[in-house]
Amino acid sequence: MSDTLTIALSKGRILKETLPLLEKANIIPAEDIFQSRKLIFDTNHDNIKLVILRATDVPTYVEHGVADFGVAGKDVLMEASISNVYELLDLEISKCKLMTAGVKGDALPERRLKVASKFVKTAKNYFAEQGIQADVIKLYGAMELAPIMGLADLIVDIVDTGNTLKANGLEARELIADISTRLIVNKAAYKTKYGQIQPIMEMLQTAINQNTLDA
Ligand code: AMP
Repeated sequence: MSDTLTIALSKGRILKETLPLLEKANIIPAEDIFQSRKLIFDTNHDNIKLVILRATDVPTYVEHGVADFGVAGKDVLMEASISNVYELLDLEISKCKLMTAGVKGDALPERRLKVASKFVKTAKNYFAEQGIQADVIKLYGAMELAPIMGLADLIVDIVDTGNTLKANGLEARELIADISTRLIVNKAAYKTKYGQIQPIMEMLQTAINQNTLDA
């Protein structure tokens, strides 16, 4: 069995906050990830490799065990269909909120709600739990446009500062979940590679604590 540990990282906003945390845990890419078009990177450890993926693909790679670890937002994990994965650590980075939002000041209609989101599964679960009848329409981006154009009464989207909503005449309504970035691990890898995984977890936990103290 290979003793290489592969960590799948989400590119974009999360990556910018993940790399400094990994560095604090003494996991350092062999070259500058942002200056390269490569997708697989060696690190300062012979047995640790990093792969850079679209955030929504990270749970899939870990579920299938081709990556041992994954770093992904809780929003992505809630939406993914995964059963072979443990959530090990809250990295406490890229914090934001998953919320419903609608046109500022508008009351909700009496009929069945129309909701637009890229988080279809999470949105359906949320409205079902609330006992609210809702049809969820899948969108891939620019969710804010949906209530303005009349495609939906509400959106379910990620809110950080709230500036994007405000700039589009929307307001945040209900909190669905507090979101942060998590470290996940393949269940089989957790058993078979525990000896290698455990020190990495410890180093990461120390780095998370350090980040909290610095904040
Ligand atoms: P804001 O205008 O600060 O509320 O940011 C909202 C937009 O930024 C949303 O459309 C999100 O897609 C994106 N965003 C904010 N925080 C995060 C995060 N932690 N992870 C992914 N996307 C985010």
